[in-house]
Amino acid sequence: MRAAHATSDAPPSAARVHVLVPVPLGEVYDYRLPEGCVARPGSFVSVPFGRRQMIGVVWDEQPSERPSPEESSLKEVTAELDCPAMPPGLRRLVDWVAGYTLSPRGAVLRMAMSVPKALEPPAPRIAYALGDRPAKRLTKARQRVLALAAEGPPRGLTELAREAAVGAGVVRGLAKAGALKILELPAARRFSAPDWRRAGATFSPEQAAAAVRLKDRAHQGGFATMLLDGVTGAGKTEVYLDAAAGALERGRQVLVLLPEIALGAQWLERFRRRFAVTPAEWHSDLGARQRRETWRAVATGEARVVVGARSGLFLPFAELGLIVVDEEHDAAFKQEDGVIYNARDMAIVRARLEDIPCVLVSATPSLETVVNVQQGRYERLHLPARHAGAALPEISAIDMRAENLASGSWLSGTLLDALVETLESGQQAMLFLNRRGYAPLTLCRTCGHRLYCPNCTSWLVEHRAFHHLQCHHCGHREALPERCPNCDGADSFAACGPGVERLAEEAGAKLPGARIAIAASDTLNGPKAAAALVRRILEEQVNLVIGTQILAKGHHFPMLTLVGVVDADLGLAGGDLRAAERTYQLLHQVAGRAGRGAHPGRVLLQTYMPDHPVMGALISGERDRFLEEEAAARRKLGLPPFGRLAGIIVSGVDEGAVATTARELARRAPRQDGLSVLGPAPAPLSRLGGRHRWRLLVKARKDVALQAALRHWLAETKPAHGVKLKVDIDPYSFL
Ligand code: ADP
Ligand code: ZN
Repeated sequence: MRAAHATSDAPPSAARVHVLVPVPLGEVYDYRLPEGCVARPGSFVSVPFGRRQMIGVVWDEQPSERPSPEESSLKEVTAELDCPAMPPGLRRLVDWVAGYTLSPRGAVLRMAMSVPKALEPPAPRIAYALGDRPAKRLTKARQRVLALAAEGPPRGLTELAREAAVGAGVVRGLAKAGALKILELPAARRFSAPDWRRAGATFSPEQAAAAVRLKDRAHQGGFATMLLDGVTGAGKTEVYLDAAAGALERGRQVLVLLPEIALGAQWLERFRRRFAVTPAEWHSDLGARQRRETWRAVATGEARVVVGARSGLFLPFAELGLIVVDEEHDAAFKQEDGVIYNARDMAIVRARLEDIPCVLVSATPSLETVVNVQQGRYERLHLPARHAGAALPEISAIDMRAENLASGSWLSGTLLDALVETLESGQQAMLFLNRRGYAPLTLCRTCGHRLYCPNCTSWLVEHRAFHHLQCHHCGHREALPERCPNCDGADSFAACGPGVERLAEEAGAKLPGARIAIAASDTLNGPKAAAALVRRILEEQVNLVIGTQILAKGHHFPMLTLVGVVDADLGLAGGDLRAAERTYQLLHQVAGRAGRGAHPGRVLLQTYMPDHPVMGALISGERDRFLEEEAAARRKLGLPPFGRLAGIIVSGVDEGAVATTARELARRAPRQDGLSVLGPAPAPLSRLGGRHRWRLLVKARKDVALQAALRHWLAETKPAHGVKLKVDIDPYSFL
């Protein structure tokens, strides 16, 4: 930290700065700059805040609607940190996200300075070189060290000791005697620059056309949003890596956002093949040190390409030249707690603020994006076919109404036959069921009592592998009780419905030749376990993968030729406005795992609704018609993307207080043309983590200033004691 009290002859009139601190407050605060301190907008400064000392950022504007405090009452900036200033693009993004999501600016700032330790300069490397004083007592060991120090570059303690085959004490002793001197070298670089000059893939004409367009854009700069639309395996990744090369050539940094679970070893390997180095990574699995080094390397410009999950959007790029959002339709880009935002949408905002292009990538683009293309706001680049003529898998439905399954089994005869055939021919299969654990519901056979989470309106899911029941909403765990808590019946519990564990049990019993692995987020805890499983599949130690969506994305298994979707209807229940769209996207993605190598693939969908438009679109491949029908239905109802929604979640421990606040909100709801408020009603998940929840849903025409109306309304309503209001702009979850 640089002391702010410098003895320069700066003018005596103290300058005043506005500082935003990372606490959930919207205001900036005024501070006096001590003489000689040249902190300017973006500078990280340490300031007294309440009774604490905090690090904040010098902000650009005047504090709004607050009288400027008297000069004499101003507190002084303590010090300016020795760290690159927060770039203007990121500062403007903080303001913008706060305004859009109705979050305090300080809460958004906290996401943009999530690694406080990175604000301190990295410790210098200590290295040893030959000193000025001759050493006394020249032992053999000492001679070896001095000989090395005389010829080679300065080296660290362990390195020098190892090379000279002596203990560290020998080196230290020589330094103490002055025969070696200690140097402080700048911290080592952690990230090498990607080599954009390397040739990429030899593109097909369609790929080349898309790549040229993207690369030109990235090379020129300037804001534009583009959709790279193409079936799985069409080479979209290959093409956008070429655009990244264009931005790198221009001396700019690149950010690639991916849903967390798609960010695996295979993607990194692709990048390394293209650019000869691995990119910087940004996700929840980084260690503290990696996090600190990466954040700082982005700020200093050492890291040129970052591939990250949604929070990568708030990294301090000073020279950002391109943002890619891969799997742009994925709901994982929506952050649902704290500041509720959609990283896909905010990536486009950042691109606009930085005046650079943003590329959205998907085989199943969201309806929002498709409509933006139709309305001319985004440019679409299309890759119509799989690379090298690989065929798309053939998709068909199994009508479960005709299959007469025995109770306790979930694999139809048709699917079992296909599995046997595939495994016998030495190929691999995947069974997809988006349900972790053994069974989603446990009930008492005697009295019908269901085992619920004590904190949530949610069934407890049995996980046999871990010998417990678990709540998938709050994480609560308990052992299966011996007696029913309701009727006291012993041994009366029955598992209802399948999870992946139970399915593996059935498949194991009915397919003797199967070498089964389960892939779910709880059985694969972390990227290392996932990478190990991917390897086992590639090496064909496993020939039947039974998994949730964790393996649905981004993986390329050449011998996998059959995908069985165990319950294709699973996502269609419930009141989610995107239920059909999301089911289509997910199943399409899962289907895309089949037949990516030399052998053609096929996909079987077990469904009780073979005539549902989602099944129809998957089977016929008529994605665009499906999207048109979806669009027509939503347009008629004024739902997104043709209208806007905001969820308001009222929660608290005291149910009465929650209901009172929710009703009070409804009573004061804005009466405004083009805006309506639905509710209040208890949320479908009416209790979560011990808090009761009520919801209101605001529906607005696109021309209504939704945020302004909400801000005004919510400012007027004081929640009851202990009750919290959460605003969810553009909600994805309606639970
Ligand atoms: P997508 O991102 O559209 O699913 P990928 O970029 O992952 O498609 O490409 C699928 C596979 O085909 C990858 O293994 C990729 O390396 C390969 N591929 C795509 N285009 C080419 C090309 N022009 N030359 C060589 N290999 C290619
Ligand atoms: Zn729970």
